[in-house]
Amino acid sequence: MRIAVIGIQGDVYEHIRMTEKAMEKLGIQGEVIWARRREHLEGVDGVIIPGGESTTISKRLKSGGMYEVIREMAEEGKAIMGTCAGCVLMAKEGDEEVEKTGTELLGLMDMRVERNAFGRQRESFETELDVEGIGKINAVFIRAPAIIETWGDCRMISEFMGKGVAAIEGNLLALSFHPELTEDTRIHEMFLKMAGNDREKLYQ
Ligand code: GLN
Repeated sequence: MRIAVIGIQGDVYEHIRMTEKAMEKLGIQGEVIWARRREHLEGVDGVIIPGGESTTISKRLKSGGMYEVIREMAEEGKAIMGTCAGCVLMAKEGDEEVEKTGTELLGLMDMRVERNAFGRQRESFETELDVEGIGKINAVFIRAPAIIETWGDCRMISEFMGKGVAAIEGNLLALSFHPELTEDTRIHEMFLKMAGNDREKLYQ
């Protein structure tokens, strides 16, 4: 299995390390690639879009041609996971901030997001969450977005303070928080099962 981590901004290295650890735990033979250009996405089974600044990541995805490739991959049913700013980009609809900044979302999931949704006092924090299919996890939030609404086949799988913080739609996964910043590999394991089309094992 080949997984690419989009290497524009954010915790690229941490995502690579966590994905490798998750592969080891699941006994999956594979490699994890730092993707800087569209050629790096050839033949991969899944893509991870890290956090950072959604406006910047969107611009760089577009200018480097990775934007279209990721959209095609989603259409082909490949697994894609967006965390924090990556979660914003996964959505079909954003808030006024997304509009004001002219951020072009990848628009893959039937959901609406709000950037920086947890207020200035709570810019970054760590809390326990209950994630459907996984159970309790510790989650790190940094100027995190929230998933305000889902429709169609998109479904919330975790909420915090009355707002959505994780959603799933087919082989697409969006998280408001940073699963790469703890030592718990269960989110990456869930993603790898999606990438391997191992959905029946997903909720074991
Ligand atoms: N606030 C950032 C954005 O919406 C996301 C922050 C993050 O990825 N840690 O672009």
